[in-house]
Amino acid sequence: MLKKHLFAKSWVAKNMNALLFCVLGIFLFWLSIRHFSFAYTTKQWALLGSMFCASLILYFYTFRIPPDGNKQSMDSAVYLATLFMFGTPAAHALLLFSSILSAVIERKLSWWKHLTNFSVYATMIFGAGTVFSGLGGELGDLKNGSLLSYIGALVTYFVLNVLCLGIYYYMADRSNFYRLPKGLLRESGLVYLCILILSLVLTILIKNNGITGLVLFLGISIFLSHLFKKLFDMYLQLQERAIRDERTGLFNHSYFEILLEQEIRFAANASTPLSLAMIDIDDFKRYNDHFGHLEGDKLLGLLGSIFKEEAEQAGVTASRYGGEEFTLLMPGYTEEEALVFVDRLRKKVNDTPFAGVEILPHACLSFSAGISGYHIDIHDKSVLVLHADQALYDAKKQGKNIAFIYGSSVQPEQEIEIAQDVRDIEQLLKLFLYKDINTFKHSKRVFRYAMDMSILLDLDAMTRKQFVLGALIHDIGKLEIPWEILNKKDKLTSAEWEKVKKHVNWGKEMAMTHDKFKELAPYIELHHERFDGAGYPHGYKGAEIPQLCRMLTIIDSFDAMTSERPYQATKSVQEALEELRRCSGTQFDPDLTGLFIAYIEGKNGSSPASLTPPLTGS
Ligand code: GH3
Ligand code: MG
Ligand code: MG
Repeated sequence: MLKKHLFAKSWVAKNMNALLFCVLGIFLFWLSIRHFSFAYTTKQWALLGSMFCASLILYFYTFRIPPDGNKQSMDSAVYLATLFMFGTPAAHALLLFSSILSAVIERKLSWWKHLTNFSVYATMIFGAGTVFSGLGGELGDLKNGSLLSYIGALVTYFVLNVLCLGIYYYMADRSNFYRLPKGLLRESGLVYLCILILSLVLTILIKNNGITGLVLFLGISIFLSHLFKKLFDMYLQLQERAIRDERTGLFNHSYFEILLEQEIRFAANASTPLSLAMIDIDDFKRYNDHFGHLEGDKLLGLLGSIFKEEAEQAGVTASRYGGEEFTLLMPGYTEEEALVFVDRLRKKVNDTPFAGVEILPHACLSFSAGISGYHIDIHDKSVLVLHADQALYDAKKQGKNIAFIYGSSVQPEQEIEIAQDVRDIEQLLKLFLYKDINTFKHSKRVFRYAMDMSILLDLDAMTRKQFVLGALIHDIGKLEIPWEILNKKDKLTSAEWEKVKKHVNWGKEMAMTHDKFKELAPYIELHHERFDGAGYPHGYKGAEIPQLCRMLTIIDSFDAMTSERPYQATKSVQEALEELRRCSGTQFDPDLTGLFIAYIEGKNGSSPASLTPPLTGS
């Protein structure tokens, strides 16, 4: 009955208390076994032998008790019945033989665990036997007049069991002495009662019907054991349903809240990192509207299975937060480590084929994510969620299919006096959200590089404004390129390529129609000119191209090389820098290329906090 509970803690902590129980149990066993009488009749020996077999069988037919599935075996009923019929020495002898046999059968369990288990049982039997005879109990038939001694023995057996557990755990880890017995009483009180009553029933059955009675008892016990197993399985199923989301197979919102609270408490106590990622599927409404909710549901199911598989391998808990939103709870992960994990997951999702994704802006499955890390100032779990949500919002604003850490996505465009103009151009750029999301995101990244370069180049306020706005708007002419060409995965034909090249002219014309944007026209028109004169639309050379347009060409090319796009290989930063060096003096202005390379190298070498917002993502 004790075995599961007793051996769950650390070996060293257990040794002392195990030793104490062994000394006590073996001593009491020795006190009693000295009086074992061999003067039994053949019939009695046969009965004792059968009871030995029964105790062994019942050792394996256990009662499993919710919520933790603790196992209660029924062999105690046989020991007690033996005690009532043949006395304490016989019950001890039975215990010795069945303990030896179970030690042989369960060889994997260490010998001292078997010995401790044996000793605790020996103590309980000794106590029950002493009370039984002390209260005037007589061996043999169950006598109504001796009811008090039976009850006394049963209660002692039970109390000793609970006491042993309490003392054992108190010695092992100084945990609350009452905690375990109290829990055990609550969980298993009824089963204890059942076992104790069954021991009396067994005594009667054996007395009246001998071995047949014992077999009957075995039948009932095995049947009950099955019943308990079934009940426990049902309990597990219900529990599973209560915490799972059916559609995705992930944990549900309520369970996530419970886990979050637990993990925050743990991280606070153990001073270990903890990160939370909020994930929101990109443009899911569009998929639903196009293909219907049933297909949308399938998509959710697929994403759920990907999240589950990846999360389980990484010690992360994935839950469905609601609708098309998910959470990843990442104990032990710093924010930066969480970002690495989420980005890998995002790439995996991007590369997962699914029917109909061509209609989505990224032409692949994608999600945006916000990451927040636990720190000592976070007093409430809702704050962690709020931070992750805020970072997710920023990720969506940057064009989706990207993950941000909370606090890292300071929007430079909000900090500067040109904010209104930026907003105006962004309104225009939003047209790209449906036409070509990659251009939308590319424009924003180029803008941020330009912001940094304008500081490095020490531009005056006016020039700086024109340069960064020019960077933001430089691809606006692509709005005129047909959707099929912009989103074509195969190589472009030469006619299509000519159309693409036209975007610089179309963009310039668009800018010229608006007083506010007229000054930006050169950036739009000239960002594909080359330093060696082999660019378009004019084939200008060297200083014929304005300096900041030459700068924009470098930024534009670098971002095109390093931006991650679904189904396309991306150059690493190092590879892209290598390419810039290779083309320095031909395609690119060599002085400006050197400046830009030094800036990128410095940025990559600096701490993440000092970087402008992450520039990954397609
Ligand atoms: P965004 O990229 O900004 O997140 O856009 P979105 O379209 O994904 O987000 P929005 O919040 O506009 O729409 C979410 C949609 O998710 C709306 C709803 O129809 C759909 N949705 C939520 N739960 C379920 C579900 O269980 N099954 C299906 N099929 N659709 C769902
Ligand atoms: Mg949503
Ligand atoms: Mg969404």
